[in-house]
Amino acid sequence: MATNVIFLGAPGAGKGTQAQILREKYGYYQISTGDLLRENIKRGTPTGKVAESFMKRGELVPDEVIVAMVRDALPADRARPVIFDGFPRTIPQAQALDAMLKEQKHSLPRVVSFCIALREAEERMLVRGREDDAAETIKRRFEVFQEHKREIEGYYDNPSSERFVEIDASQPVEVVTRQLLRALELRAAS
Ligand code: AMP
Repeated sequence: MATNVIFLGAPGAGKGTQAQILREKYGYYQISTGDLLRENIKRGTPTGKVAESFMKRGELVPDEVIVAMVRDALPADRARPVIFDGFPRTIPQAQALDAMLKEQKHSLPRVVSFCIALREAEERMLVRGREDDAAETIKRRFEVFQEHKREIEGYYDNPSSERFVEIDASQPVEVVTRQLLRALELRAAS
């Protein structure tokens, strides 16, 4: 059975691109909290209303909002492997995820950290130009990422854990994919 996986990494590190490949070629189900939040804002839901002001400022949306949203998004089919993209970003979110997966008998995820120089990721973001990619917001999102990076990586990267892998995300897309597949013990699809 394929392994659940958490994608950690700065905005612009290429998590979305790799998630799309796992989805299309390997049947992964993707839970991207950023995408879910943007959908909620578009639909004008209560979650969207709470999230909007935080996102505009590049700040993290409160943990309880995020955790409830992820809980609702978990697929009922436990055989379907899940990519958690952009989640968890804080220790309380990581603890909530562990509890949720245990409770629903999902397997514990591998953790892949996409490493990239912040300047390079920032350049990618500026080229991409999404709505919440305004220059000021981007700057703040990077600061917030830096503020939380160590605590969240520290949560997963410890001697008793074999589930943490770092990948150099500045490499070409297909090289990153190859290393990701290896980390997930998947064979390359044609
Ligand atoms: P992303 O598309 O993952 O970069 O997320 C865009 C924005 O959504 C972030 O800047 C946060 O405001 C919010 N967001 C996404 N995921 C989370 C999360 N796990 N915890 C808190 N806020 C989040």
